[in-house]
Formats: sequence, structure tokens, C-alpha cells
Amino acid sequence: MRIETLISTLALMTVLNGCAQKETVETKAEDDKAVEMTEQVNEDIGDLFADIPRAKTDNAAANVLLAPFSGPYDGAPQFDDAELSGLKPAMKAAMERNLAEVDAITDNPEPPTFANTIVALEKTGEALGRVYSYWGIWSSNMSTPEFRDIQEEMAPKLSEFFSKINQNEKLFARVKAVYEGEEMERLSPEQQRLVWLVYDGFASNGATLKGEAKERYAAINKRLAELHTKFANNVLHDEESYAVYFDEDEAGGLPSDFLAAAKDAAERMEGEGDYAVTNTRSSMDPFLTFADDRDLRRQVWEMYYSRGDHGGEYDNNALIAEILQLRDERVKLLGYDNYASWRLQNRMAKTPENALALMEAVWPAAVARVHEEVAEMQEIVDAEGGDFKIQPWDYRYYMEKVRKAKYDLDSDEVKQYLQLGKLREAMFMVAGELFNFKFTPIEDGVVPVWHEDVHVWEVTDRTSGKHIGLWYLDPFARPGKRSGAWASGFRSHDTLDGVEKTVLATNNSNFVEAAPGEPVLISWDDAETYFHEFGHALHYLSSNVDYPTLNSGVRDYTEFQSQLLERWLSTDRVIDNYLVHHETGEPMPEELVNKIKAAATFKQGFDTTEYLASALVDMRYHTVDPAGIDPDKFERETLAELGMPDELPMRHRSTQFGHIFSGEGYSAGYYGYMWADVLTADAAEAFAEAPGGFYDKELAKKLVDKLFAPRNAIDPAEAYRKFRGRDAKIDALMRDRGFPVPGGGDGESTIE
Ligand SMILES: [Zn+2]
Repeated sequence: MRIETLISTLALMTVLNGCAQKETVETKAEDDKAVEMTEQVNEDIGDLFADIPRAKTDNAAANVLLAPFSGPYDGAPQFDDAELSGLKPAMKAAMERNLAEVDAITDNPEPPTFANTIVALEKTGEALGRVYSYWGIWSSNMSTPEFRDIQEEMAPKLSEFFSKINQNEKLFARVKAVYEGEEMERLSPEQQRLVWLVYDGFASNGATLKGEAKERYAAINKRLAELHTKFANNVLHDEESYAVYFDEDEAGGLPSDFLAAAKDAAERMEGEGDYAVTNTRSSMDPFLTFADDRDLRRQVWEMYYSRGDHGGEYDNNALIAEILQLRDERVKLLGYDNYASWRLQNRMAKTPENALALMEAVWPAAVARVHEEVAEMQEIVDAEGGDFKIQPWDYRYYMEKVRKAKYDLDSDEVKQYLQLGKLREAMFMVAGELFNFKFTPIEDGVVPVWHEDVHVWEVTDRTSGKHIGLWYLDPFARPGKRSGAWASGFRSHDTLDGVEKTVLATNNSNFVEAAPGEPVLISWDDAETYFHEFGHALHYLSSNVDYPTLNSGVRDYTEFQSQLLERWLSTDRVIDNYLVHHETGEPMPEELVNKIKAAATFKQGFDTTEYLASALVDMRYHTVDPAGIDPDKFERETLAELGMPDELPMRHRSTQFGHIFSGEGYSAGYYGYMWADVLTADAAEAFAEAPGGFYDKELAKKLVDKLFAPRNAIDPAEAYRKFRGRDAKIDALMRDRGFPVPGGGDGESTIE
């Protein structure tokens, strides 16, 4: 779900991205032009960076991290030689080199031009980008207490470094001169957008400030970086430190694969009991769905939803208050009313009001559905003679009973058809049909990886055989790996050096490894997430932009492409060929497929409400005056005011809401998932209605050309119109979730 939270402070630098696939003569011609243009620009830039020494240190481990990627496939990070001891000196050397590059730009006696300023700036920071590839892996995939110490120490230094660039007056003066200069109108639309993005990156990050305000701005950023890191580490601490233990006689209702993993966890954690429920979503969620023991369910629920909220050293409440106050103070320096207004100006939604309007249009229908779901569950409780009202730790458990009764859908039965390996093949098939990509496994050892579980595939164009990039897959949970699923990358597509850079993209998840020789069976939700993250990877891989900054994501738009990919999981071609029973090899029976489709609107009250509650609280946090705010009280009062049902919590309670407090990637931006969902539902209807359905060649080409390949090279609202011929409507989303369509679906409810 998250790509750039870690590097959200890298306002001018995009480390993660995509690559190119160009088939038609027409785009080839454009491509040649782009390369020609790049050659001209490179001539103009000349030897700007020639006198700067390469980022190098007297520490051998650091030099490994700083070195250009080596080996086959245009080079890749050398994970097998990477050592944590090199990280700090490598970071320092890379930052120094980057600052020297910036100095070379600002010291240039030539007047500022697109080439010698904007493109030159795009070329800075390569060494730092490489070090960051290793940093990202140590941070998300292979975290250790040693790394976290380094991270805490380096986060403020990094922030200081970015402030030095963002607040470099000479640099901003040059950027401004290009932005306001005559050359601007001669540039291509893509180049103009690049100039605007770079200019805006400065202007909205404090470059216009002077004197004391400027110093305060930098100090705030530095402190925020510390607070974000501390917040994330506190959550991780609580996830690793707590577990609920239970014995064989308390294991009623739990599926065998869950118990096997819980047994391993108990042995690893050496607690009192045969089994352990660890404190992560992938452990909590199935436990609350299946465990018969109501008191244990309550214990697990309380453990999970108390993360970051235990008082004492690892409590996040005070951090949230300080974060909100500093964010507010910072945007006030820039003249904005509140953080959300500042944050949304370059988003597709553009204003907090637009985002709130969407959420508030859906909220009443979601809450009304919760009340219906609770009533249904209460009937079951009463019929069973249970003398209690449904509580939050009962919701998943009784909804599973409703699911079985109403849809006769047994999630364990569904799982028998969802083998991790087959799903991967299905994703490759979809990528082949839509993107014309071919995935070929690379023999272990050829491309270095960070853990033995990680495997690598080469991505090529199916027709031309052209090399597009590499795809790394890190599928399994392990200690030190953050929870959830995400996509990331080590190299993105651009043509800065006159050649197309090939892409290094990754997908990461936390599936529980099966016993040797057994297939890994996963839930329908997890299968959707698997496709989702692959959608992010395809978005990187399909990029055809010329400049790194144009690979950057627009937060309320960048989830759209990945969410749309989820829709291919339930297409006939995937079901018939890949969703096959792990023992019999039979495809999932039509009856079961129909049940899954019918069940798609199931539990939408819960799912939509728990999400929207988080999204609305996020937006409220970032639009109110945060002076003296008490997050615990604020959360309670906001939910009460919204009419939040008592029977379920926010999906992410404030003290564990890493999306918005571990960085600024999703702050005032959690609404973006639903914004993207509106686009997703609307675009999916376009495929459903196309002559060739979800594999319609013409529409697939439009999808790739208009919505994937351009990344951020075009305004998202405009890109969407080019794909759909109109703005997206909210109606398809309401239909998808089984909610009434506002105004009866007369097309008034559009978003743009
Ligand atoms: Zn995502």
C-alpha cells in the first residue's frame, strides 16, 4: 500500500519508479526525439559535475553501498556484500556529493536555463539514491535494533540535508527564473510540468521564506523527522513485544494453518502457552474471525488496538500532539490556513473540501450498513442463547457466521484454490495480456538478494524481447520485516543520460510460509492485495517518462492503478486457469465463484466504515487548530460527532496510524484510497462494458498509454479524461459496495 512514506522527505528526489515498453512506430519516433533532445541538453550542461569527486570514503563497507550498481541487467544493488556498518559513512558521503552537485548548479556563471538548472538538478543525488536502496531494505525488510539506532540518528541529519537543498536561495532563484522565463513556453508539456513540479516542490517547502521564518522552518522539519521515526519504532516495539498465549483446549474454531504458525510463534517467543497470537494484523485478523473463545478474542483485540497507547516510554499520544502542532506551524509560515490545504494543492482532489465531500457522500450509507450487519449478527447471538451485545471483538467472528449462513461461503474452502505460486503465474499472465510484459525467472545467485526467500524475475517486452527491468519478490513474514504488503524499487525509468534506464521493482508481503513441499494457501483478501502490490510494480515498470521527478506519485491517484489491477483476480481467465484446487487441480467451481462475487458486498458496512473513520479523523486532525490537542480525546470526540458505531474501531487508531504519523506520505491523504477507489470502480466498468471485456486489447492499450506509462507527466484529472472520455463518477463505487447510488445514478456525482 505504501511506496514512498520512507522517502517522503525527499521532496526533490524520486528513488522508486518504473520503466518503458514502447511498441508502436509512433511512440518510437517520439522516443528518438526525446533521446535527441536529451543529447542536446547534456551538451548544454556540459561538464557541470566533472570536477566533483565521486562519493567515496575510507570505509570499504560504505563504498559498497555507494558504488554504481554492478552485475548483469544494467547492474543491481549488491545485497550480498552490503554491511550495516557502511551505512552511516555512505549516507554522509552521498549527501556531501549531492550538495557539491547542487553547488555546481548554483555557481554556474551561465544564466539559468531548463538544461543547466532543471535537468541538471534531475541528475543530482544518484549516489544517495543507491544508498537509499539499501536503507529501504534494512528499514522495511531486514530491520534490527542496530539499524533502528542508525535510523534514529540519521533521520534528523537527512532532514537537515534536504532542508539545505529545499531552502537554497540561489538554487530557488534559478528555478524561479526558469519557471517565470521566456524559455518556458518553448518547452514540451512534459517539460513544463517538470518545471512546475520542481518549482512547486520548492515553493511549498519553504523556499520563499527568509530569515527567522526560514530557520524555524528547517528546525521544524528536523524535529518532525525525529518524531516520525520514533512514532514508527514505537508501533514496531509494541508489535514485537506483545502476544496472547493460549493452549490446545482454547484453540476451538481456528484453522490448522493458523495454529501451525501460532505454534511456531509460541516456540520462538518462549511464552507461557502452546500457541501465540502475535501482535500484527495478519495474526489478529484470522484469530478474531475464527477463534471461538470470546475472552481470548477480547484480549487479542485489546492488544492490537492498544499499540502505541500503553502509556510510558513507547506511547505515541504526546508525539502525535507535537507532530500536529509542528505541521500546522510550518504551513502557517507558508501562508496556508491548515496542513490539509497545503497538502492537497497538488493532489487530484486539490482541496480538503473536495476530499471531505466524497467521504461524507459515502459515510451515511456505510454506517447504515453497519447497523444492518450488527442487527444480523445480534440475531445469531440471541439464537445461540448468548447473553451479550455484539462488541468489536465479536464483529469479524459473527460476520464469518453470517457469511456462511447467507452466502454459504467458507473462506477456508476458498483458500484451497488460492495457491501463492499459481497466483503469481496469474499475475504474469495478466501483465502479459495488458502490458505485453514477459516474466522470466532468474536463477538464484545471479542477481544478489537480501534474504534467501527473495527471488528475481527478468521483465521483457513480449514482442520485441527488449529488456525492461527486474522484479524482486519477497513473499514471507519474518522477524524484522514490517507488517503488511508494499511495493518499492531501486531504479526507475528515465532517459536523462540519453538512454532508457531499466527498472528495478520489488513486491513485498507477509505470507506465512508453508511446511516444506506444501503450497502456501492464502485468503481472497490477501490474493487481492497480492494483485494490488503487483499493480504498483507494473506502474513502475511501464513508466515512459524522461525525467525522474515525473515518476513521482500523486497520492490520491497512485493507488488507483494498483487497485484497478485487483479486478483481474476475478476474471474468468484467471479463475479457470490459475485458481485451481491444490490437491485435485480442479478450477474453482462456478458455484463458488458466484458465491464470492455475491459476497463482494458482504461486510461492506464494516470495511467502508473502519476505513472512512480513519480517513475522516486524518482529515480532521489536519484541518483543526491543533493547539493543546489531546489525541486520545480528539479521536473519541470526533468519532462520536461522526456517529461512529460502537461495534467497530477505526482501521488504524491514532496511536498506530503510521500512514499519517510515521512520515508525511499519507498525512491528510488517507482519503486517497477511496478517491482512487472511485476511479477504480469507474474504470473497471469501462472494461466490463468493452467488447473484449477485461482483456479488450484497445482499452488495455489506452489503460497503459494514458493511465500507467505517463506516471506524473500529465495532470491526473486530464489523464483520466483521456482514458474514459469524461470525469469519474461515484456511482460505480456505490454499486460495487451495494450502497444506494445518490440521486439514483443520474450522473451528477462526479469527481475531478
Ligand atoms: Zn497500494
